[in-house]
This record gives sequence, structure tokens and C-alpha cells, in this order.
Amino acid sequence: MFFIDLLFPKFCLGCWYIGEYICPSCFDKLEPIKKDVCIYCKRPSLFGLTHPGCKKMYGVDGILSIYHYNPILKKIIKNIKYRLSTKVWDEFYKIITPKTIEKINFYKKISSEFAIQSIPLSKIKYNERGFNQANLIGIFFQKFLDFPIINLLTRKKEVSSQAQTKNNKDRYVNIRGVFEINQKCRDARFCVFTKNIILIDDVVTSGSTVREATRILKKAGAEKVYVLTLAKG
Ligand SMILES: [Zn+2]
Ligand SMILES: [Zn+2]
Repeated sequence: MFFIDLLFPKFCLGCWYIGEYICPSCFDKLEPIKKDVCIYCKRPSLFGLTHPGCKKMYGVDGILSIYHYNPILKKIIKNIKYRLSTKVWDEFYKIITPKTIEKINFYKKISSEFAIQSIPLSKIKYNERGFNQANLIGIFFQKFLDFPIINLLTRKKEVSSQAQTKNNKDRYVNIRGVFEINQKCRDARFCVFTKNIILIDDVVTSGSTVREATRILKKAGAEKVYVLTLAKG
């Protein structure tokens, strides 16, 4: 055992068991999503692709989520959010099983020219934590996707936390207009604009955040936007 391990012993993010960040018992409690659904009608759809009849102008083309947002994953995500150590993230890769990799690889099959864009965190939250959680989750998925990370999106203004707004319709109204294209990216010299984007978030619930982000990206010229999230509420 290294000295550093004595100073910062590993605790399970789900149950505080010492020795691992995700212990076998908590890992067993994770529930992989077996049936992917269309983001609009919520009916089953292969690889979460939006049904042709459900397609919307400036809409999401498909969505894949890995796990159900059950109590154990909720706890893990909550705890990992406040951990500054990237070591935790290194071990967190174990959460992606070979079966999951197969699922994620679907995006590699669609196009070889995707870029990864994470949902930007609000400035308040960023300052609180000192790092952008969404960026970490972007880097996390990049390990499996091998696409470049872009920062086209920024947040414009603060809204009250999504979790506090229960009603789905309220959520959409609440989120509308919060994103914009990064000032730097409006000048093509500073930013490569990609036509095919994979939008990443840790948890998707109503889908309003990713839908709004997609709207902004497509209005700015993106052609295809697919969503990938770790969890689905
Ligand atoms: Zn545990
Ligand atoms: Zn549909």
C-alpha cells in the first residue's frame, strides 16, 4: 500500500465500503437500460433513434443512455460530482461493461466524423465545484468513442435548478434560451464547427436540456445531433 492510499483511502461511492470506488455489491445493483426509446414519443426504438415520424426541426436524432437512474447510481453520481480526484474517474470506467461498449459503438458506425460536446454547467455550479462535471463526463465517454471534444456551447443565464422544477412543461420553459454558441466559435478561425455532434450529459430526465442544446447547435449549423448519457431518470 502506498502512503497516498493511507491518506486518501478509497471508499465506495455507493456505500462507503473501503477499498474500491464502486464495490461489487453496488455494481450488481446497477440496472443497465435494455430497451432504448425515442426521445419524443418514448416508445421503443432501435438504438434510441428518433422515429422518422417523430423527427422535429432542430430536433434530437437519437438518444442512448446506459443505466437507469436508480438510488444506487444516484448516490454514485452525486458523490463523484464532488470528488476532485481524477483517480475516481479512472476507476469509474469499470462501470462501462463490454455490452455497453457495444451499444456506444453504434455511434461510431453512424459516422467517423463526430465531435463530443458536453452540456455546459452553469457558472455558479462551476465555481462551487471548481471543475466542470459535464466536461469530465465528456472525457469519460471520449475514452470509448475516440472523437474530439468541442466547446461550442455555453450557458447564457442562470435558471433555477432543474431538479426543483417538477412539471415537464415548466422544465422546458425554464431551460429555453439558456444556451448559446461560444463567442469564440462564431469566428471560424478559433473553432472548428462540426456537423455531427454527440451531446453528452450525466443524467437525462425529461430530456428538455438536451433538446434545447440540440436546438441551438442545429440552428448554428449542426446537421446531426445524437445524445449519450450515463443515466436516465
Ligand atoms: Zn458499495
Ligand atoms: Zn418516436
